Amino acid sequence: MKKVFNYRLLGHFLTVVGLFCLYIFFININNALSSSLKSHQQITPTKRPFNLFNLEESADTIFNLVQKVGAKPVANIQKTRLKKNETLSSALKRVNFENYHITKITNSIKELNKGTKILSSLPVGMVIHYSNPSSLTGGALKLKYNKTRDIFVWQDLKNNYISQVFFRPTRTEDMLVRGTIKNNLYISALKSGIPENTLLEMISLLGFSVDFQREIRSGDSFEVLFTKEIDILSNLVTQTKPIMYVSMNLSGNKLHFFNYKDKYGLPQYYDENGKSSKRTIMKTPINGARLSSGYGNRKHPILGYTKMHRGLDFAAPSGTPVFAAGDGIIEKAGWNGSYGKYIRIRHTGTYKTAYAHLSGFHKNVKIGRKVLQGKIIGFVGNTGRSTGPHLHYEVIKNNIQVNPMRIKLPAGKNISKSNIKNYKKHVKNILNHKMALEKLSRNKELAINNHNTSKILIVY
Ligand SMILES: [Zn+2]
Repeated sequence: MKKVFNYRLLGHFLTVVGLFCLYIFFININNALSSSLKSHQQITPTKRPFNLFNLEESADTIFNLVQKVGAKPVANIQKTRLKKNETLSSALKRVNFENYHITKITNSIKELNKGTKILSSLPVGMVIHYSNPSSLTGGALKLKYNKTRDIFVWQDLKNNYISQVFFRPTRTEDMLVRGTIKNNLYISALKSGIPENTLLEMISLLGFSVDFQREIRSGDSFEVLFTKEIDILSNLVTQTKPIMYVSMNLSGNKLHFFNYKDKYGLPQYYDENGKSSKRTIMKTPINGARLSSGYGNRKHPILGYTKMHRGLDFAAPSGTPVFAAGDGIIEKAGWNGSYGKYIRIRHTGTYKTAYAHLSGFHKNVKIGRKVLQGKIIGFVGNTGRSTGPHLHYEVIKNNIQVNPMRIKLPAGKNISKSNIKNYKKHVKNILNHKMALEKLSRNKELAINNHNTSKILIVY
């Protein structure tokens, strides 16, 4: 097979997508800015940061904690980071804690649930706030253990060390981001504040329906609605929830997908009519044919030597119809060297399928035309380097042939008839929520201008 395919990495694929110029950026924040917003703002229940009565929530500083728990007062709070190959003990030693205190501190952490594991899994670079113990002041530590948890260690009034893990308080924000495509989606969307997870999620869920490389035109637009969780103390995003809604407008052709949990509670996406966002590619794009040669090394029937066979061969009489393995665009239809009469369909930015040794093409098959899964595109033949009538079928992922039997493209199930009523109700709720956010954003933009805050990026 003479055909040489270019290998492209995901990054490259994304850079050709087109620059998204995000012109509106809406958020629903339940924070300080809300004072300037009207009362119709939705308040989602969030944990308050300084309510430490039940000791479930983190304090921002050691001072704050010591005050709340009534610990031994602390002096200066200093800061260091856990270095490579350092343990907590060696880090404390470095910042002049005495061995006596170090032992007491590590013992107190070991008494925590999974304490020994915590001590052995402290991340390199972890911020350690500390107060050195003296006769008058207490030793204390605050370890920023991970995104959601802090560990505090302090001395009580009897000089005993106590450790506790605290959850950092969070709030959630629903965000509706709208953009118009001008150039690079990836870079601009990230710049605008869309978390990377959400962007990748969006690309993979639209990837079944949109060929990002070819179908995107300047002026096309998108909308995405999602929830993010924010650490109230640091104001950083700690996690994002699965996208609730995403839509794209491709040259006037509108796609909408809604998140609807399946019976396992996993997010699945469907269009407004309940059709799954997932399209699979057929493994056998021909009816009643026999698989005559599989994927892998084999002795080539004509060339005589062992050669990698990068496709599947289906033996069938000449003239047997061949189907499009999935929805897509005809990329090539014509003579292609040893492949003989050949068709290649581009399904998404990632997947293509190819059909070789055909005797002829269906009359509707023209380069650049759209075909639907299961439609006849051509007929089995014996053209090119072939020993008898058969279909040579290839699945091409990122421009490299892969084993069609091994591809794991999940077949999407549509919403069942019995569930469609509930689903449509759910769609309506999401659209209402989106409209409420749009309304809110108008006030929000005013509020932001008044406060002279530029936290929210509006890029033109
Ligand atoms: Zn073959």
